[in-house]
Amino acid sequence: MSVRTRFAPSPTGFLHVGGARTALFNWLYARKHGGAFILRIEDTDAARNTDEAYSVIYQGLHWLGLQWDEGPEAGGNFGPYFQSQRNAIYEKHLATLEAKGVVYEDAGTIRFRSPRKTVVVEDLVCGKISFDMSNPVTHPDMTIRRPDGSWIFHFVNVVDDIEMQLTHVIRGEDHLSNTPKHVELYDALGAKPPQFAHIPLILNHEGKKLSKRDGGSSITHFIDGGYAPEAVANYISLLGWSPKDNREFLSLEEIRELFTLENINRRSAIFDLDKCFWLNGQYLLHMSLERFAELTLPFIDKAGIAYGSKEALLPALAIVKPKVKHLSDVPDWIGYLFTEDYAFDPAAAEKALRKTGALDRLAQLKAAFATVAEWTHPALETKLKETAEQQGVKTGEFIHPARVAVSGRAVGPGLYEMLEVLGKDRVLARFDRANAEFSA
Ligand code: GLU
Repeated sequence: MSVRTRFAPSPTGFLHVGGARTALFNWLYARKHGGAFILRIEDTDAARNTDEAYSVIYQGLHWLGLQWDEGPEAGGNFGPYFQSQRNAIYEKHLATLEAKGVVYEDAGTIRFRSPRKTVVVEDLVCGKISFDMSNPVTHPDMTIRRPDGSWIFHFVNVVDDIEMQLTHVIRGEDHLSNTPKHVELYDALGAKPPQFAHIPLILNHEGKKLSKRDGGSSITHFIDGGYAPEAVANYISLLGWSPKDNREFLSLEEIRELFTLENINRRSAIFDLDKCFWLNGQYLLHMSLERFAELTLPFIDKAGIAYGSKEALLPALAIVKPKVKHLSDVPDWIGYLFTEDYAFDPAAAEKALRKTGALDRLAQLKAAFATVAEWTHPALETKLKETAEQQGVKTGEFIHPARVAVSGRAVGPGLYEMLEVLGKDRVLARFDRANAEFSA
């Protein structure tokens, strides 16, 4: 039977890192085995369901590159893929249980009568676990339907896993204690349980289960915060899993090759936002300029930077790429390259341009640069050094005023790269502008 896995989130308005990891592991397992990865929305709690809550899930999965084969948007033969639209299916399975006499009514709720046996779960990560279900005090008969007709998670989750013919249920360890109840339902419905794999919890730095309140625990944080999806997918894959050789930089393709459920750790994983941040910086540094451009364009467009053409944009991106840590920083790092109306940071101007003699140096540098025929980084560097030497001052006396004059700020890409990208005419004009602005 070919592998079928699923990600079954509730639309809470939030795609948590833990949920994203569950989705990733299910996707990896399905892809690795040539199976199908299904997205099923567990939206039985009508009160919480908003369009926004659904789209946060789709957007997060698309962004991470986890395309599903069946589910919302994709369709498939086992739909509908929203629990809120599967009522007739649940009614049918409830009727099966009723016919078997294993459910009863209790103050308007419908409960499932536990067979009160020991349930053995062979979990692919946690191993063989026995759950003694004999005591009704510790294991009361589970409710499967509320008095208002709505369904309880355990029942619809199991019915759907049966109906959708799932072969593997890979989910967070917080569901391990639910598993014996689920197995009881599979048995009662006459179905063979899927293979279970419960993946370790993700903890915060205090050793508590990572929650919504923990900074950076939502995928939206990474999308809006300018992370590269490949960096985040890589980071998330390492939460509870690692390749045998302890490599840390892995593309989704490599992870897919190396991924096995056997390599999943039993120990809890610690969520380390600093590590994710570091990994992201490494990805930005090493990715191709094309990819960097593709990822930064939404931020650049949102900021309304009039960069003209892609040909004009790429050189600007090339010089900031080694410096930025977040894609969302890029507009600020390149904005002044595309307008003559850039602002001067008051502190930077005070230090570099209002300093005694600074404007004289700018004038000397302008005269020297005016003679440069081939406007390239090395030629400009040589010329600036030569000028400093002639004037008997340190190169910094020229570098700082030049940088602030052409960019309005003290920090940015390498000066010579920036001058080269701006071109001769604009650099000389910017020197004049700074001179006019600060000579008063
Ligand atoms: N909707 C459940 C959750 O989000 C799904 C649990 C499962 O994967 O079985 O926790």
